[in-house]
Amino acid sequence: MFNKKTVRDVDVTGKKVLVRVDFNVPLKEGAVADDTRIRAAIPTIEYLLQHGAAVVLMSHLGRPKGKRVPELSLRPVATHLSHLLGMPVVFAEDCIGEPAERTKAALKPGEVLLLENTRFHPEEKKNDPEFARQLASGCDLFVNDAFGSAHRAHASTVGVAQYLPAVAGFLMEKELRYLGQTLENPERPFVSILGGAKISDKIGVIRNLLTKADRILIGGGMANTFFAAQGYRMGKSLVEADAVETAKALLADAGDKLQLPVDLVIADAFAEDAQRRIVPVGDIPDGWMALDIGPKTVEAFAETIHGARTVVWNGPMGVFEMPPFAKGTFGVAKAVAESGAVSIVGGGDSVAAIKQSGLADKITHLSTGGGASLEMLEGKVLPGVAVLEDKES
Ligand code: AMP
Repeated sequence: MFNKKTVRDVDVTGKKVLVRVDFNVPLKEGAVADDTRIRAAIPTIEYLLQHGAAVVLMSHLGRPKGKRVPELSLRPVATHLSHLLGMPVVFAEDCIGEPAERTKAALKPGEVLLLENTRFHPEEKKNDPEFARQLASGCDLFVNDAFGSAHRAHASTVGVAQYLPAVAGFLMEKELRYLGQTLENPERPFVSILGGAKISDKIGVIRNLLTKADRILIGGGMANTFFAAQGYRMGKSLVEADAVETAKALLADAGDKLQLPVDLVIADAFAEDAQRRIVPVGDIPDGWMALDIGPKTVEAFAETIHGARTVVWNGPMGVFEMPPFAKGTFGVAKAVAESGAVSIVGGGDSVAAIKQSGLADKITHLSTGGGASLEMLEGKVLPGVAVLEDKES
């Protein structure tokens, strides 16, 4: 149950509100290349402005490793946000110290300020209390709307809540409602689809979903390790030798809940122009590798997906960045979109595949958080959520 206070539950009028947003967007030639994450934060920003708050935004961008990296400045994001909001956005050259103090002090209700990249300071990732105090300084309330960063216990996601009352923004609320509710009380059949490169990243997810889902479809490189555990020869395919025993244990525990591919697209090299073949599982010649699920698998997966009332998908079915190995991922995307089930897609690759296939509007919820949504699927409580105040019951 979602039981956290949101911006609706507190009085924001006349307050200076510090909002953690996820403006970790791709930049190209000094401009924002994809503004999905910025747009996702607008409802919270507009609500605060309309209710007479002064809005102080903070975010990280990329991995500057605790140093000032000019290419990772949030300044282009301030410009972009200003266009989206149709109003000026003040920019502070640093997220703490004199530039931040001065601009925060001058900010009036109805105005917006964006602080420079929090990760320009090593104290951000260390969740340093003094750094968090400086971020919070001059503000009256903390709103966390950065679902995509909520699995990190950093100063801007967790530390500031030591100094300010903390509530959720609308994006955070939406993500937690969809993912939380689905995991707690899904309409059945509940089918989960997992893909991506490695099984080792998702063992916790599989274990948790085995207790919740009716069926788990496994594709992508992950499936290879299960096949190796079943004794199949996998040629040069990506197989995690260290995880074979775990895969065996998962297969033993899963009964018939795990549905694995029946055929594969194999290639003689990890390249777009490699020779390709479609083979049943078990027929991979030495020197060849599995790079996508085959057409019979797409059909079988689609049948399972069409019978579902709830679908949660994370991870591509193959090396979809190369068009010859993208059919499996797009085939599954189509099946999810057509299923009529409540559908939740998380993780950058699966969300990109849904968007590329033009089916995004058929999906109930596209999550903005890859790592964060995986940790929720694992059944973990996200630290950036744990610090938010509970609703009074
Ligand atoms: P992840 O970040 O774990 O979700 O993995 C995503 C990556 O897995 C994508 O870049 C895919 O290219 C890659 N991937 C998917 N299937 C395979 C495969 N069969 N072999 C190698 N890599 C794969």
